[in-house]
Amino acid sequence: MMAGASTLPMVDRAYGVMIVDTDGREYVDGCSGTICVNIGHGVSDVLEAISAQSQLVTFAHRSQFRSQPVEDLTAMILAIAGPGYREVVYTNSGSETMETAVRLVMHHHAGTGRDIIVSQRPSYHGMTVGALAVSGHPPRRRNLEALLGGVAKLEQVSSSRDAEILPSLEDWLLVLERVDPARIAAVVFEPVGGAASGGAEMDVRTLRGLREFCDSVGALLIADEVMTGFGRTGEWFGVTKSGITPDLVVTGKGLSGGYLPIGACIVGERVLSGASAADVSMGHTMSGNPLAAAAALAVLKYTRDQRLVSRAREVGTFLRGELELVAESVPFLQPPRGRGLLLGMGIEQNPVDFATTPLNRRIVEAALRNGLLVYPSGVDARTQSVMVCPPLTIRDREVEMLIARFTRAVSQSFVAERV
Ligand code: PMP
Repeated sequence: MMAGASTLPMVDRAYGVMIVDTDGREYVDGCSGTICVNIGHGVSDVLEAISAQSQLVTFAHRSQFRSQPVEDLTAMILAIAGPGYREVVYTNSGSETMETAVRLVMHHHAGTGRDIIVSQRPSYHGMTVGALAVSGHPPRRRNLEALLGGVAKLEQVSSSRDAEILPSLEDWLLVLERVDPARIAAVVFEPVGGAASGGAEMDVRTLRGLREFCDSVGALLIADEVMTGFGRTGEWFGVTKSGITPDLVVTGKGLSGGYLPIGACIVGERVLSGASAADVSMGHTMSGNPLAAAAALAVLKYTRDQRLVSRAREVGTFLRGELELVAESVPFLQPPRGRGLLLGMGIEQNPVDFATTPLNRRIVEAALRNGLLVYPSGVDARTQSVMVCPPLTIRDREVEMLIARFTRAVSQSFVAERV
């Protein structure tokens, strides 16, 4: 993250899209924490649901009891996901959910010799070993290759075009066709990139092409919807507009809007049909605890009742237009990319300066000084970007405040750059 943790402000409280430090300074949360606080801070419906559940029971292990919040949450997630899914496996984070998906893939293909997982570069799927093993994120893999190699064979697809961050369908097929189809276990992707590629979007044709490819060779398709899931892109899921049904949908972050840790792997009918994916994949002590489930259920109901998914589309269009204007007046900022309220702006900087002081980090630090949180992304000079992804609840006048602070922060970084 930034400079040293000891220089960071001390957080005190938060409400709506604002977060306040112990010196009373107010920050616009322009990146929803780490793009997870989808419904804003301090929503009373959620706090009340957590309080009510905590007075009943906070922990009961899934192997010993069923619980109403978990059953209701599962029903709601399956209803949102639509046909083709049969089970939800709970975890406590996005990384653990990706780890679960990878484990389920290996169990699904047990005894078949399928051991290759194909992902793209850049990509980010989490910090645990299995999740990092499939991530195309060199800075986060640094020093860890010895741990990552033995998990599954990884093939990675990069873009063949300088101007495009993500590979095209042709780039994918070129790599996929080189690999023995009988050994491909799964293909994994983020519909819109986050930590690695700052809002770079996969097109519908590529998503459909990957679904077709997996069907034709008997591989599973994993959608990493940790950042895109539950409304962020202006649809319930990042893949919604493509119409495809991935075999495994990996979620976290927005599922509980940052209120309590929880992740969920939504499991397709074809995966391990006949067996319970939750039983096969095992899990963690806290997985599927009733308290986190109650929080997530309240967040999803709030998202539905306040119509925040379509709101993400509408406000996203307004914010995007404002960011386009900022980009027009700043030579090193590229126009915003992404969808809904998952927006990122690429940054142009020569690789030598990037190696010493990446401009995206400088913008993040200048934004903090100006009372604004934005999020740095990218794996190298070519992909560095800054993400502007406020809660889906942000109002127009708060967007204006965000833009005013962002413009100041960017111009201060620019002055610093020229010194
Ligand atoms: N996948 C994606 C697409 C993510 O954006 C993240 C978090 N940035 C993860 C997985 C990992 O999630 P977590 O940090 O909750 O473990």
